[in-house]
Amino acid sequence: MMMKRDLYGLFIPEIAVAIAEYGIESYRARQIAEWMYQRGVADFSTMTNLPLQHRQQLAAHFNSTGVTVQGQQESADGKTTKYLLAFADGAAVETVLMRQAYGNSICVSTQVGCAMGCLFCASTLGGIVRDLTGGEILAQVLYIQHQLAQQGQKVNSIVLMGAGEPLLNYDNVLRFIRLCHEKYILNLSYRNFTLSTSGIVPGIDRLCKEDLPLTLAISLHAPDNTLRSKLMPINNKYSLDEVMRAADRYASHSGRRVTYEYTLIDRVNDSVEQARQLGMLLKGKLANVNLIPVNAVPERGLLRPAKERVNSFEKALLSMGINVTVRREMGADIQAACGQLRQQVLEKNEPARL
Ligand code: SF4
Repeated sequence: MMMKRDLYGLFIPEIAVAIAEYGIESYRARQIAEWMYQRGVADFSTMTNLPLQHRQQLAAHFNSTGVTVQGQQESADGKTTKYLLAFADGAAVETVLMRQAYGNSICVSTQVGCAMGCLFCASTLGGIVRDLTGGEILAQVLYIQHQLAQQGQKVNSIVLMGAGEPLLNYDNVLRFIRLCHEKYILNLSYRNFTLSTSGIVPGIDRLCKEDLPLTLAISLHAPDNTLRSKLMPINNKYSLDEVMRAADRYASHSGRRVTYEYTLIDRVNDSVEQARQLGMLLKGKLANVNLIPVNAVPERGLLRPAKERVNSFEKALLSMGINVTVRREMGADIQAACGQLRQQVLEKNEPARL
């Protein structure tokens, strides 16, 4: 059987090339893009400004798949919604909408599962299943954009911080970011993206060369190599010092402040001494630290520190002149930590969603 090509995730000029093979005029590409991306229509037969014959040809040769909702959780304060979104093959990922004071922010997944094995993260418990395509990452955002549009709202910023290591799915991730920037899709400034990496040094350097003003976030989580390797196995490949040097290159090339994510785990990495070590590491850098009290991962026996410990850690950094914020505990009641909703569903033996 002939595999149908997916038009979803293509730029207008690429759609034009794809449909030209079937004698469909290139100006139709914009109409198709508007149906798929702006109106959220996947069914070619309902794209009513196209001639019937074109609609039939499109349906015979192409797909335009979006996502289907497999699960949804709302936080008690109504500010966070977590979706479990499934693609055509049944693979499902988590996507989170956070209604912040400065606008609606969406956290997307870039892979199904994750190979990185970070100790505190539920997304990696089942390993990696596959990369997502640029269109599949985009479909997560546009699904939510269409929900928001019904309330007269829109997506204001995107964080690539869900399941997956974005820099190990580089081409698809960059396609996704560039698609979002297109006027006919979201018209989103590159400044409104934050890409979070566990520290893939060649990927950081490659990103640097793109010359896009994205915010880079480094998942640090420990101030020394020994502990970081225990929490994040990738540290055995790209050590803390190499990652810090790559982040410095990114900061000096882009002129943008790098965010350092630091998940606070009770009695593991949350002492005042460790805060001082972290402060020494970041002193004088164009840096911002984001402290994230861990959402307990029962499978790994990791606990959230008491408020006092979080406060002492923050104070120690502030006293060294480091910019620091403590992430508001958005959605803790719906297990906003990455991967926990998907993991729950998998554990209920619902293999269709794998
Ligand atoms: S924290 Fe990110 S990189 Fe680490 S296992 Fe989870 S999804 Fe993968």
